[in-house]
Amino acid sequence: MANSKYEYVRFFEQPDTLLPNTWIVVRIDGRGFTKLCAKYGFEKPNDKRAIDLMNAAAKAVMADLPDIVLAYGVSDEYSFVFHKTCQLFERRASKLVSTVVSTFTAFYLHLWPTFFSGGLVDDVPLVAPLLPTFDGRAVCYPSVQNLRDYLSWRQVDCHINNLYNTTFWALVQKGGMDSVEATGLLKGTFSADKNEILFSRFQINYNNEPEMYKKGSVVFRDYELVDPASSNVAQTAEAADNVAEPPTLSKSKVESDKKRRAKARITVEHIDIIKDEFWDRRPWLLT
Ligand code: ATP
Ligand code: ATP
Ligand code: MG
Ligand code: MG
Ligand code: MG
Ligand code: MG
Ligand code: MG
Repeated sequence: MANSKYEYVRFFEQPDTLLPNTWIVVRIDGRGFTKLCAKYGFEKPNDKRAIDLMNAAAKAVMADLPDIVLAYGVSDEYSFVFHKTCQLFERRASKLVSTVVSTFTAFYLHLWPTFFSGGLVDDVPLVAPLLPTFDGRAVCYPSVQNLRDYLSWRQVDCHINNLYNTTFWALVQKGGMDSVEATGLLKGTFSADKNEILFSRFQINYNNEPEMYKKGSVVFRDYELVDPASSNVAQTAEAADNVAEPPTLSKSKVESDKKRRAKARITVEHIDIIKDEFWDRRPWLLT
């Protein structure tokens, strides 16, 4: 292409390449979902249709981008973990974030009618201008331990918020309080207090609440599970960090791994990712 006198504007572009050999987490979050929930009548505290829709959109993103090894979702947010060796878009942050956000949003809108119509209640069509949109950011984590701590942070947040929301909405929906009264009652309470309120006033045992609400959603590529007792078990997080890089894999091995990953079934589970067990049983995820 011929150069033009306008070509110089290209040099205003700033590089935003992410640090090599680090786990890239792209976290997206629904914009103004408090308002959006109210407009489209989400059930409180947890609208299952909305969570299923988030999970379906996340699965579609993972199917589209094989460099993503795992995703974790709760409420209106989703964290996508790109493998540390990922070279997509030369690891440019703006390219990665905008691709994840727009792919997720496209599927969220496309799949909305699948989850918000045809059920027992009336159809809930999307009506402009209040449409679902998402923001996004990218953060690099240099070690497996840092990455696991990030994911633990999100899952702990899920637990704390869900316990609060479950108690708050029980007080409002079953206890006849208004939101000011419920907020006042919960101010300064600890987890044990909330569990006690749920049990003594509403006969709700928080432990029996659905795992989907208590744990959030973990999306990953499913291979065969490894028995944690066997000898060729996964390295622990610390070991994985300390171990030297494996000898360079042959090109065909890299290719076949890639194909295997692309073909693997993408599953959603609502399980603990803070303890070692999840990772020990799925050693392919973080190696
Ligand atoms: P921001 O644009 O700053 O993110 P926001 O209104 O989206 O503003 P968040 O902190 O992201 O604020 O909170 C998301 C809100 O959406 C929370 O109130 C949460 O309870 C609600 N929400 C998200 N998913 C669901 C769901 N499946 N069912 C019911 N409520 C939900
Ligand atoms: P990348 O993902 O790298 O952006 P791309 O295939 O989208 O790859 P672009 O450089 O963005 O590559 O080029 C966009 C392509 O789409 C061009 O070939 C352009 O001619 C074509 N295109 C875009 N809009 C139209 C349109 N309205 N009608 C016909 N062709 C179009
Ligand atoms: Mg936000
Ligand atoms: Mg939000
Ligand atoms: Mg949020
Ligand atoms: Mg273009
Ligand atoms: Mg293009």
